[in-house]
Amino acid sequence: MRTALAGTLVAGITAFAVGSTGRAEAGSTTPPWPTTLEALTASTPTPPVPITMVERPLSNLERASRSEARNAVPGCSGIVIGGDRNGQLPPSELCDLWQRPYQDRADAVVTLYALDDAYRARFGTDMCLTSGYRDLEKQAALRASLGSRAAPPGLSNHGWGLAIDFCAATYTGTSGAWLDENGPAFGWANPPWAHRGGAGPYEPWHWEYTSAVARMTASAPTR
Ligand SMILES: [Zn+2]
Repeated sequence: MRTALAGTLVAGITAFAVGSTGRAEAGSTTPPWPTTLEALTASTPTPPVPITMVERPLSNLERASRSEARNAVPGCSGIVIGGDRNGQLPPSELCDLWQRPYQDRADAVVTLYALDDAYRARFGTDMCLTSGYRDLEKQAALRASLGSRAAPPGLSNHGWGLAIDFCAATYTGTSGAWLDENGPAFGWANPPWAHRGGAGPYEPWHWEYTSAVARMTASAPTR
């Protein structure tokens, strides 16, 4: 595959050099494609840049996966076996987040680290958390203190290790707007039920690893 790609690249360059106007000859230091200025001011159609030479901007998902490969989360494989019961995830399925004592399911943690990498590059600080995975005991305690504003024990997406709660400093203002814009490309979003006027309580701080939540909770209303 690598050899085939290199062959394509060389073939592209060679074909282009032969077919160009003579500005780009073999051995010349002038690049065989027009500069932006030349392309913009040319009165005649300029030859196309060989497709294999085009530097394509990375999507956030690609950045996430590259970031993942480059900065694997220490001690977290990102792999889950599945078959878990809400609030009863085995330690092997959980990974630490950057802010202790919070944890989430391994696959969610890896993607959340990637999102945090991008957030830190933009704001110079990690995303601030107030909650992650909640076992059954924690869900029951929260239900006892918050009543219907908390999910019944066994139904919270925090119990699947697939939800996170952010501090106000993270989910509001400029950083909140950035999260709204960029979170979904990393697989994270504030779910519709938690929006103002949504089906559940208004919880702008509550974010979920959406694809995994969709798989785990296809039939049950959860939060
Ligand atoms: Zn929450």
